[in-house]
Amino acid sequence: MLDLVHVWVIRQLTLGEFASRQAVLSKAVLMAAKIAVFAYLLNILGHLVLVAFGLLPYPLLPALVVATMLTPPVSFLVAVLAYSVVGLAIYDLGVSRQRFETLSRTDMLSGLMNRRAFLDTFEQARGPVALILLDIDRFKSINDTLGHKAGDDVITRTAKCLTEAPGAGEVIARIGGEEFAVLLRGQQTERALQIAESIRQSVESMGLAVGGRPISVTVSAGVSEGVAERGFSELFSGADRALYLAKASGRNRIVHAKQLVEASLDASFPDDAQRGAGLARLSA
Ligand code: GH3
Ligand code: MG
Ligand code: MG
Repeated sequence: MLDLVHVWVIRQLTLGEFASRQAVLSKAVLMAAKIAVFAYLLNILGHLVLVAFGLLPYPLLPALVVATMLTPPVSFLVAVLAYSVVGLAIYDLGVSRQRFETLSRTDMLSGLMNRRAFLDTFEQARGPVALILLDIDRFKSINDTLGHKAGDDVITRTAKCLTEAPGAGEVIARIGGEEFAVLLRGQQTERALQIAESIRQSVESMGLAVGGRPISVTVSAGVSEGVAERGFSELFSGADRALYLAKASGRNRIVHAKQLVEASLDASFPDDAQRGAGLARLSA
C-alpha cells in the first residue's frame, strides 16, 4: 500500500495527472465523488450487517434516512478538501522540480542548453548524427579591448544566430566559454555544412556595436559525422580537429572532418594529448 502511494506521489511530481491547478481540482471532485459513493455503500452495508445480527439499537428506516443525508455530503466535502490540499502541494512541488530541472540544463548567459544537457541528449540519440562545433574567433581580444560585458553580449548575440539558423533544430548548446555545439540527426554532410555556413554568415553580418562602435565578430566551425552508438568521443574528436584546421587556416570558415584526410594534415594536427584535452574540457 505504502509502495503504491509512493509511486503515485512520484508520478504526480512529474506533473503526470496534475498538469495544472485546474486538473488537481477536477481530479479532487472526481475522487471525492467516488469516495462519497463508497462511504455511503459501506454505511448501508454496516447497517444491514447489524440488522442481520440483531445488533442495531434503533429502527433501520430512520437510520438509513440519516445515513443517506449525512454520509455522502460529509465524506465528499472531507475528501475533496483533503485531496485538493495534498494535490495542490504536490503540484507546487512538481512545478518547482520542473523549474529546477530546466535551470540545471540551461546555460544562464545564452539561454541555450548547457554541456550536461547536450551530452544527455546525445546519449539518447540513435543512428547517424552530425556535430557542428563552433568557436568565436579571437574572443579574448574582444574581452581585452572592449570589456567582459561586451564579451558577454557577443556570446548572447552569437547564441541567437545559432537558434535562428534554419534547420539547426533544438539541440544547440553552449559547451564552453565561447564554444557552441549543434547536434543534427541523420546522415547529412551537405545539410550540416549548409547550416554551419548559414550560422557563420549570420554571425559575420550581425552588426553588433559597442558604445556606438561597430565590432567585427566571426566564428570558425568544425563539422563531423558518425553513428551515435559509437559514442560522443569519436564524433567530437573529428569536429574538434576540423575546428582546429578552420582556426589554423585563417578562421571565419567551416571545415568538415573529411577535409582532414583529404588535406593529409594529420601530422600537423593536434596530437592525441591535445585532442584528449579537448575532450576532457567537454566532459569536465
Ligand atoms: P581563437 O580564435 O583561437 O578561438 O581565440 P580566442 O581568443 O577566441 O580563444 P581563447 O581560448 O584564447 O579565449 C577565450 C576567452 O573566452 C578566454 C576567456 O576569458 C573568455 N571567456 C570564457 N567564458 C567567458 C564568458 O562567459 N564571458 C566572457 N565575456 N568571456 C569568457
Ligand atoms: Mg575556445
Ligand atoms: Mg575562440
